[in-house]
Amino acid sequence: MIRANNPKIKSWVDVPEGSDFPIQNLPFGICKINNSEPRVCSAIGDYIIDLAKVNDLAYFADLGLSRDIFYNEYLNDFMALGKGVTRAVRNRLSEIFDADETKWNSRELQQYILHKKENVEMLLPIKITDYTDFYSSIEHATNVGKMFRDPENALLPNWKHLPVGYHGRASSIVVSGTPIRRPKGQQIPNDSKQPVYGASRLLDFELEMGFVIGKKTELGDTVSTQEAEDYIFGLSLFNDWSARDIQKWEYVPLGPFLGKSFGSTLAPWIITLDALEPFKVAGPVQDPPVLPYLEYEGEKNYDVNLEVIIQPEEGEGKVVCNSNFKYMYWNMYQQLAHHTVNGCNINVGDLYASGTISGKTPDSYGSMLEITWRGTKPIQMPDGSERKFIADGDTVILRGWCEKDGVRIGFGEASGKVIPAHVEHLIA
Ligand code: CA
Repeated sequence: MIRANNPKIKSWVDVPEGSDFPIQNLPFGICKINNSEPRVCSAIGDYIIDLAKVNDLAYFADLGLSRDIFYNEYLNDFMALGKGVTRAVRNRLSEIFDADETKWNSRELQQYILHKKENVEMLLPIKITDYTDFYSSIEHATNVGKMFRDPENALLPNWKHLPVGYHGRASSIVVSGTPIRRPKGQQIPNDSKQPVYGASRLLDFELEMGFVIGKKTELGDTVSTQEAEDYIFGLSLFNDWSARDIQKWEYVPLGPFLGKSFGSTLAPWIITLDALEPFKVAGPVQDPPVLPYLEYEGEKNYDVNLEVIIQPEEGEGKVVCNSNFKYMYWNMYQQLAHHTVNGCNINVGDLYASGTISGKTPDSYGSMLEITWRGTKPIQMPDGSERKFIADGDTVILRGWCEKDGVRIGFGEASGKVIPAHVEHLIA
């Protein structure tokens, strides 16, 4: 067992019940502390751990890490050190904050390394080199197929044979808390042959999980399902905002484009694949059997509870979705094997998103498109208003957590508030 994963360890730092960040989590992110230079950080309870300072104080001295690794705008250099090093850093943190471990003078130095989260600004953790979005939930793909194509043949013939995906846009991925401007674009009104231009009226969220690459390949290389674990550094909550009206008109025949690229929200914390090891579960049975390069051994899905909240500008919010990452038909290992089977190289900092994570029941659907069934079944908000899609002023909050043996590993949150379109650019 990885030392830091030991469920028995208690920290000398007070960790409130239900916290996302017990000593068994120790995720990685990038922050500014009281407006400092950006640096690598972790979290425990309600505190942020300044890893640049931890390194300055020589807690990692035997690991031979340069100062620049931690005084850094992004996690890319840190991740590129490889799992041998990043695992050792996480294990060392587990020792430093272990209530039963006395060889570190961390308690005396805590004023230098721990900061209340209120004094810390979390930044985008990764310099995202490339972004790919998959479409790997069978429930989501079936729902969309029923709505837009043929209810009898909701899945296209390729769907059960390969993890369908497309190359997305990295430049518009923003960290949780960044407002999302309602996009404008071409739409086709119902019963019309002529498109119109305007602000999207069908703005949606997509509940997704992203995984981040920590090890590169060379052009021509292929990563097998067995090797994939070594290439995936960690996971983070991801909202792949979607403008359904723009998407519907533009997507044939090459797939998603401007209906997706106006913004996506990533949570600030990367939860290491190491920390998630205890939460592996079996995925759905794949029938028909997949081609040999997509076969895998062992349990490769992860039991992560997921939740989506719509928080209006005023008044009470509403939980609109309870789903789970374990529902995915195609797992991350298969996605990476498929992505590289043609020899496409991958880089440290690549982000791969799961696709919308829907369960079998309407309360577990991972998008408004499905929850309100294209707007035909609006939901009621606590203040009596209705939502078919996301309104200006609404904040969409994604949360995720694993729970087992009294340990709760949380993902923080990916939240974004929708702000009105730039109307001054609209043609009346
Ligand atoms: Ca998506």
